[in-house]
Amino acid sequence: MDTASQTPLSLREVTKQYGSLTAVNAIDLEVDPGEFVVIVGPSGCGKSTTLRMIAGLEDITDGELYFGDELMNDIEPKDRNVAMVFQNYALYPHMSARRNMVFGINAGGESYPDDEIDERVSEAAATLGISDLLDRMPGQLSGGERQRVALGRALIRDPDVLLLDEPLANLDAKLRTEMRAELDQLHQEFGATTVYVTHNQTEAMTLGDRVVVLHDGEIQQVDPPQRLYDFPKNQFVAEFIGSPTINFLSASVSRTEGSYRIESSSRAGEFRMNLPPTDRLEDSLPEELIFGIRPEDLHLAETTDDTQAEPLSLTVNTTEPLGNSMLVYGTVGDREVKVQLDAHASVSVGETVSLVSDPDRVHLFDAETGDIRYHSARVPEPAPVDHSD
Ligand code: ADP
Repeated sequence: MDTASQTPLSLREVTKQYGSLTAVNAIDLEVDPGEFVVIVGPSGCGKSTTLRMIAGLEDITDGELYFGDELMNDIEPKDRNVAMVFQNYALYPHMSARRNMVFGINAGGESYPDDEIDERVSEAAATLGISDLLDRMPGQLSGGERQRVALGRALIRDPDVLLLDEPLANLDAKLRTEMRAELDQLHQEFGATTVYVTHNQTEAMTLGDRVVVLHDGEIQQVDPPQRLYDFPKNQFVAEFIGSPTINFLSASVSRTEGSYRIESSSRAGEFRMNLPPTDRLEDSLPEELIFGIRPEDLHLAETTDDTQAEPLSLTVNTTEPLGNSMLVYGTVGDREVKVQLDAHASVSVGETVSLVSDPDRVHLFDAETGDIRYHSARVPEPAPVDHSD
């Protein structure tokens, strides 16, 4: 099989309006040839609408969609050379797996000779591990096998752009994990420019070269997975990416002799910590900030003279053993805080423990806008990926 065409994809201020509802609001996105981009966000944030506009199944209200240099806004779906895989597989129940894969392959101006179609089917089926199942009807296949047929159907078309709409959502957890790894491998093999939609942040993190976080029809951040986790641009991204979710506490920052200290504000329980030396804090920080710290970045204070001034006092409400770690839920002042501790940490319900935060993993957000004001990560913040040319 030919390697997939590697077409860059470009959305410029793309907007979708359903009556007075703005489902997608002026999104800009450049997808490199062969790149695997995941769009993630909560239900109703505009993910499917975006995908359907790329496929041509929804009109674009405003803005421009390009495949390479070609403006696609008014091109019929059948003329776009996109393949789309849906959550519900969309297989014809009365056709065998093989017929489902090849059905319609010669529509839209394509004309493949029969022997080439056979070769494509055999190759895709072998890659997907469904060679023995091609004569079965969809009703005789498991969910995972059906989704493989649906993927095979997309891949044999050698699409310019492969669009996947929650393709693993109907599979059980174990199969989902397996298919995630397979999808990754398939992408390396076939290499089509891919846009994948999911509400599942784990899927987004494991599959995407880059991840687009969408909220209320607007892009919050586009970055490689690790960067999203390390350097979230706002509270929404910080909370959406990472599991268990990040903790937020109200805080303020004071400056004495060139060093900075975070202090709790009244109702968040008492704590204080020194920030690592930094030149990245602005003098004009707002008075009220939100201190963000991930559960895995909080640790039991080992000694009383810990350099962090005054540790957080967490009153333990519940402990959840996870096997490889222990998740502890408790309160700091009137705030709920989660902390992920060593699996064998001796912590019991009702007890108050002292916690210190990893000084390299602190985030401070503007309490009013939710935008990030400071990350303490000492690794150099990578330069943004430039997609302008
Ligand atoms: P997601 O895929 O992120 O769950 P969608 O793209 O399906 O979100 O929907 C985004 C918003 O647009 C939602 O508020 C949804 O109710 C609305 N919407 C989607 N399709 C239509 C439609 N055909 N008519 C009116 N509103 C729609």
